[in-house]
Amino acid sequence: MSGLGKGITAASTGRNLKNKGCRVTAIKIDPYINIDAGTMSPFQHGEVYVLKDGGEVDLDLGNYERFLDVELTSDHNLTTGKIYQAVISKERKGEYLGKTVQIIPHITNEIKERIRKVAAKSGADICLIEVGGTVGDIESMPFLEAVRQMHREEAKDDIAFLHVTLVPIDAQGDQKSKPTQHSVKELRELGLTPDVIVARCKEPLSDDTKAKIALFCDVSENAVVSAHDAKDIYEVPLLMENEGLTDFLMDKLNLKTIGEDTTWGDMITRMKNMTGGVKLAIVGKYTHLEDSYTSIRESIKHAAIECGCNVNTTWINAETIENDPDAVKSLSEYDGILVPGGFGERGTEGKIMAIRYARENDIPYLGLCLGMQLAVVEFARNVVGLSGANSTEFDENTPYPVIDLLPEQEDVVDMGATMRLGDYDAVLKSGTIAQRIYGSSDIVERHRHRYEVNPNFIDRIEAKGAVFSGKNKNRMEIVEVPGNRFFFASQFHPEFKSRPGRPSPPFRALVEAMLEKRNECS
Ligand code: GLN
Repeated sequence: MSGLGKGITAASTGRNLKNKGCRVTAIKIDPYINIDAGTMSPFQHGEVYVLKDGGEVDLDLGNYERFLDVELTSDHNLTTGKIYQAVISKERKGEYLGKTVQIIPHITNEIKERIRKVAAKSGADICLIEVGGTVGDIESMPFLEAVRQMHREEAKDDIAFLHVTLVPIDAQGDQKSKPTQHSVKELRELGLTPDVIVARCKEPLSDDTKAKIALFCDVSENAVVSAHDAKDIYEVPLLMENEGLTDFLMDKLNLKTIGEDTTWGDMITRMKNMTGGVKLAIVGKYTHLEDSYTSIRESIKHAAIECGCNVNTTWINAETIENDPDAVKSLSEYDGILVPGGFGERGTEGKIMAIRYARENDIPYLGLCLGMQLAVVEFARNVVGLSGANSTEFDENTPYPVIDLLPEQEDVVDMGATMRLGDYDAVLKSGTIAQRIYGSSDIVERHRHRYEVNPNFIDRIEAKGAVFSGKNKNRMEIVEVPGNRFFFASQFHPEFKSRPGRPSPPFRALVEAMLEKRNECS
């Protein structure tokens, strides 16, 4: 079922195989009809993750990229929408030669073909395929049928099935294996037999529970993995390694260990040795749903681990600040302020107030996408003196449209991929924060936006001391305020390229600036 941790299980399994020297890639199957996650509300679905090719995908792909340290493309996210769109378009072109087009074999063939193509193209030894949804869901049936067929078609030691189940604990404190037995029974009805059962439980699985699951579900006891709650998701690979899952899979898939990559374990050691703590306020809209900002949360963690310092994050609803101007003063207790990306007007004035507070009180500030656009609006209004300046996203009639629609976006009707998406490069100005923190003059970062800085206002803004330190031709990618300790905001989303052990430069610089501020003030 959803929210159980299939994504983390897949990512962790992949990481462990990578640690043994295998090249690993991953595919996520989302059985929903949407073509991609681009049009989905972060309220319902969590973060929309953006890939280098501009694919807007499920947040699990973010976990794969972070755990496996790879860069994936939109082909790595299959949805019912994509499959049917392809099959219907082939049917219209007459490619099925007059046959009746059916779920089996045409839809299932399309699924298998895509899985095999992506796996082959990646050049990996192992391809993880995560089938989202719950066994028994109507939507996921064609996908389960496709992997069942693959099981017949592939060599026996080339495919293994991992089934992730829930082991609840009853009122007496007993671990219950019944739900696992039932879901395995459902799988069997579909012709699928799991090789491994990954049992999610609040606490470690007892030997008794393991034995029971093994017996009833027809797997060996060493194929029942206790996937109990971990303090941090990055600890899950080690937990699974200790459960013997990697050895079991290497054996089953007839793989040989080529090396022992210890970087993940070393990173965990650094994570456990973090000391002290700085306080970061994130002022956003979806503050009650941290899942909407997964990559930001992870990027902060990556930076914190490498700086050796805990970062305690508080999510503040921008509307609280907007409705009570005094509330902005509560930001004085933080060592840093971050305004993330977002869409829609709600809370924007509160975010602008928070940005102003950060700038005027020299609190380290990191703005991401909308957080950059609003930093420009704030600066235009309060430093340049352009009263009423705004983004045309929020005020079409503003006298000073400092943020405006991308030229090619004006007449777009189709909601799919109407934004500037994915990798674009930026040239960084020498002597700026941007160039210092990236240690380079040319960078590539991922984007997801419709609006951008209006070139007509650049001179007036720069004349008052802000610097556009990163540009892609006449597109402003970074703005910074050099007089401040750290005031840096980007049109791109650096959070999508941050990795454990290799934090994104703006996040690292933010944490460093917060530490510096904390040390100076104490
Ligand atoms: N709403 C803004 C835009 O479309 C910012 C988008 C974002 O923050 N991802 O340009």
